[in-house]
Amino acid sequence: MNDTVNRVAAKTVTDWPVSEAAAGAILTIDLGAVRENYRRLKARLGDVRCAGVVKANGYGLGASQVASALTSEGCDTFFVALPAEGIKLRKAIGAGPDIYVLNGLPPGSEPEAVAADLCAVINSGAQLKAWSSAARAAGRKLPAAVQVDSGMSRLGMAPAEVEALAGDPSAFDGIDVRYVMSHLACADEPRHPANEQQRQAFERLRAMLPESPASLANSSAIFLGPSYHYDLARPGAAVYGINPTPGEPNPMLPVVRLQAKVAQTRRVEKGAGIGYGHTYHAEGPLSLATISFGYADGWLRRSASAAWFEGVRLPFLGRVSMDSIILDISALPPGRLREGDLVELLGPSQSVDDAAGHAGTIGYEILASLGPRFHRRYVGG
Ligand SMILES: *Cc1c(COP(=O)(O)O)cnc(C)c1O
Repeated sequence: MNDTVNRVAAKTVTDWPVSEAAAGAILTIDLGAVRENYRRLKARLGDVRCAGVVKANGYGLGASQVASALTSEGCDTFFVALPAEGIKLRKAIGAGPDIYVLNGLPPGSEPEAVAADLCAVINSGAQLKAWSSAARAAGRKLPAAVQVDSGMSRLGMAPAEVEALAGDPSAFDGIDVRYVMSHLACADEPRHPANEQQRQAFERLRAMLPESPASLANSSAIFLGPSYHYDLARPGAAVYGINPTPGEPNPMLPVVRLQAKVAQTRRVEKGAGIGYGHTYHAEGPLSLATISFGYADGWLRRSASAAWFEGVRLPFLGRVSMDSIILDISALPPGRLREGDLVELLGPSQSVDDAAGHAGTIGYEILASLGPRFHRRYVGG
């Protein structure tokens, strides 16, 4: 990613009005890597269409920037979680691409969804009725995907509900069913028996619904093989550089780089108490750097870990504060790290998946937690 960042630095844009100089940390998002990841997924999918999942502001990285980058690769279908996200995305990317709302339309949101030309994901009989009446009110057919619960017990129509609808074709009046879809619970564990069980349940359920193209695969399921691909894949994580094949080398390019500024450096003597609660005491003289980055920036307080500078690991000492973290920089030559210098939290020395591993969480949570006050820099767009 370094190379890409350097090559396109001149075209850098930002959506954060505060200058890089005034910010405490800098988040660089490589849209060239986003595009390359999308191309790699498409190559695996062959003729199968590939959507882009941009819920939660594009996994924290900017839904409109990511969607625009994917659009330039020919992507014309996006998924968000909420109508509010869809309305915002529609304003940003304009008319044309399909935007599906995964969590379904909450009662009363249908008129706004119609106005923003969103596609409903229909998760229940009640949502089907509501979208059907919205179609009557609009005087035209409205687009939708019907989601069935093939065994995750989260969203989508239960088998009994699908069976009830099977005998009532008028239930779909006014609705243009573009996909029947479902979601896998264990796609990141290729040998998990639930994958094949869900796939077969999906087959049975979709046979009862109006004949339409099908969609099952998230990022990891693309790597389970062609029998999981159907007509449309819905990757999110892999587009953002999260490894869709945990335990194996990451087939994706890293997308984010997160750097924090050194606010101050100091020397302390043996026995000095470090940070809130004095949870750490210096076992000898130490060189410390305090960086302008803390749990308010989304770095989980439990994920005590390390930053990096020129390939040298700088462990966190003591507790993570709201706006700062104390690093042990004793491994660097004295005076090497100075106020205003940048250390790396995510990037070539520490991937999103590495950081997640240290924090006992998943890359998704690391990205989606990234805070609002970084200077955000988009490169490679
Ligand atoms: C979030 C989500 C996706 C994308 O999943 P990734 O694991 O990020 O690729 C696809 N489908 C549904 C229903 C989702 O909720």
